[in-house]
Amino acid sequence: MQDTFLHKGKRKKLVDYLRNHVGITDELVLKAMNEIPRHLFLESIFEDYAYEDRAFPIMAQQTISHPSTVAEQTELLELKEKEKVLEIGTGSGYQTAVLVAMNALGYTVERQKELHTFAQQKLRKMHLSPKFQSFGDGFAGLPTFAPFDKILVTCGAEVLPTELLKQMKVGGKMVIPMGKTEEQILYRFTKISPTEFEKEEFGRYKFVPMLGDTNL
Ligand code: SAH
Repeated sequence: MQDTFLHKGKRKKLVDYLRNHVGITDELVLKAMNEIPRHLFLESIFEDYAYEDRAFPIMAQQTISHPSTVAEQTELLELKEKEKVLEIGTGSGYQTAVLVAMNALGYTVERQKELHTFAQQKLRKMHLSPKFQSFGDGFAGLPTFAPFDKILVTCGAEVLPTELLKQMKVGGKMVIPMGKTEEQILYRFTKISPTEFEKEEFGRYKFVPMLGDTNL
């Protein structure tokens, strides 16, 4: 698959939609999403629909999130260039690519081997590799590379992953959907001291579940 003028045109329209209808204002997010060819992260049968605001199945019964969800979650990170960001749930690698395009120092963890490998190869080929891609359990975070400025969880957690809170810098933010399998609420935790967090709520979403390491 190539990135043609047709794809670029559709992508521009999607970005206009994110700006005008979803209400995304962070220009760095919009610029990155205008750059990253989302269709290249999907199976070819979905190519024609890649720039609609839709989620699609990827490998291992997982999904690539709606573009509006990617934009909203990324905007909530309030990312600045060269910040260290930990993503939990690499999936297709699309969100990772958006973070790399924003000049973040990206670290990402995926518990499904086939997705870890798929995303690693894809991102390498597109010259969008993050700093580090790990195959493992996101509940454990990445202690070797901690602390992080920002943490982005792209799967729904039933319980708060406390290890991740420990791996944040003071002043850092974690964006995470939390709740039961059917529906989650998107939260943002800001670390205001080594032991204190401010918690904000940003509405209802539907993510694939954040699972423990039992099936690794
Ligand atoms: N950011 C991805 C979204 C993928 S869906 C994208 O842009 O495509 C969420 C991903 O989280 C799935 O790939 C799932 O396998 C992964 N996941 C679920 N529980 C996890 C855990 N405990 N640790 C790491 N990844 C996990």
